[in-house]
Amino acid sequence: MSANAFSRLPHPRPTADDVRAAAIADPVFGRIFTDHMVSIRYTEGKGWHDAQVMPRGPLTLDPATAVLHYAQEIFEGLKAYRLDDGAMALFRVEANAARFNASARRMAMAELPEELFIAAVREIVAADADWFPQVDGGALYLRPFMYASEVFLGVKPAAEYHFLVIASPVGNYFKSGAPAISLWVSDDYTRAAPGGTGAAKCGGNYAASLIAQQEAIAKGHDQVVFLDAAERRWIEELGGMNMFFVFDDGSIVTPPLTGTILPGITRDAIMTLARDEGLTVREERYAIDQWQADAESGRLTESFACGTAAVVTPVGKVTRHDASFTIGAGGSGQVTAKLKNRLVDIQRGRAADPYGWVTRL
Ligand SMILES: *Cc1c(COP(=O)(O)O)cnc(C)c1O
Repeated sequence: MSANAFSRLPHPRPTADDVRAAAIADPVFGRIFTDHMVSIRYTEGKGWHDAQVMPRGPLTLDPATAVLHYAQEIFEGLKAYRLDDGAMALFRVEANAARFNASARRMAMAELPEELFIAAVREIVAADADWFPQVDGGALYLRPFMYASEVFLGVKPAAEYHFLVIASPVGNYFKSGAPAISLWVSDDYTRAAPGGTGAAKCGGNYAASLIAQQEAIAKGHDQVVFLDAAERRWIEELGGMNMFFVFDDGSIVTPPLTGTILPGITRDAIMTLARDEGLTVREERYAIDQWQADAESGRLTESFACGTAAVVTPVGKVTRHDASFTIGAGGSGQVTAKLKNRLVDIQRGRAADPYGWVTRL
């Protein structure tokens, strides 16, 4: 199936202009959706077919649909940005397409040709371009995803898949808008084990992380930070963001991609930009006790989390059991702010794009 084989069925009753304007004036992350969705079907033996841009609406699923039982489901998350000159753009969409297929392989699902993934993303942005929020930091968050749609209770990789893309206007991710977040170290729960699905962007990883996130919120923190499953010692990542540690000797550290950590595209971009800034970037394990010791000695000056949804978010405080430690002065640090600004400036078309990350639409 070719990438330009989409049939387009515009919404017969699109959201009224005034309702849409009100909806995008102050969007809460992931609550408001645009009028359209992209849908493509896969059937073993036939391949990908029936690519459509259509009115967004409920899916009808047979109760025996495989995903409802064995959770073969993967997703991506990326943003369409409005550049300062008014044009729309995507950031490293090829990397999302490639990672989507890496996730598909791990979950024994059908791979979607990368050009079809990118074409689907372009289609939804074109269909719903008038849903861009006007707020600062606003973007159209795009959620490509795929689930096992075969109706069969046998335990095997499904023979049918459904790929969709939906879109949601978003502002800033963290409700509080606080300058730095507070983290809770989970000792009871881990997110991913060696040989498991930690490097795949699958719904199941999130399902497994929610109880720890719930615990973090109940204890008054913003996010949970997971330790490795084998030793409960090495810092891995948050439920949906990668971690960076900044030191007073001009180096930054991020945990290595050993299969239990999601290979974030923001993580990769930050490593590149940090090297540009003359920082020494090391992908190496970093222990929770060392984090505390380094924060207390002042050797560690900043820490931040990163991902598409929240971009770069400084960590102000970390709590484990009943003890807490503060990072730097507890707010955003200079290196964090510098890297965030460099990234956002490229994403928004305010700075040169030396790595060809931005695709103008
Ligand atoms: C998506 C995700 C990230 C961040 O990836 P980006 O490509 O930077 O958005 C980090 N960790 C997990 C677990 C994720 O699912």
